[in-house]
Amino acid sequence: MMKTCNNCTICNSATLIHRQNLRTLVVMAGVLDVLLRTHVERQQDAPTNHAPWEQLGKLVALVAEPAPLLAEGTAQGEALADNVAKHWLGTFDSLCLNCGFLLMDESDDPAPE
Ligand SMILES: [Zn+2]
Repeated sequence: MMKTCNNCTICNSATLIHRQNLRTLVVMAGVLDVLLRTHVERQQDAPTNHAPWEQLGKLVALVAEPAPLLAEGTAQGEALADNVAKHWLGTFDSLCLNCGFLLMDESDDPAPE
């Protein structure tokens, strides 16, 4: 079941992130990292241009390029997501980014006898 971000029961911040959302966030970060690295590499060969919006426009244009960049970023993010799930979440399902509280889905618990 896909869960949205809930408030943490310990610190009450809206920073409690479920396992699946954590994966999505890390994959997004991986894609952003690849886009930024590619953008910086291309700018090193280009003449300096400080016109408003120009750099953002070029960065956004990278998103429209064929699959390899997005696939590379997704793979990079998924590798980190696997480590986050393994080393941070363990057997838990949600993590509060603010206070570190870990939570299990109650629906996953075995029924009491
Ligand atoms: Zn918290």
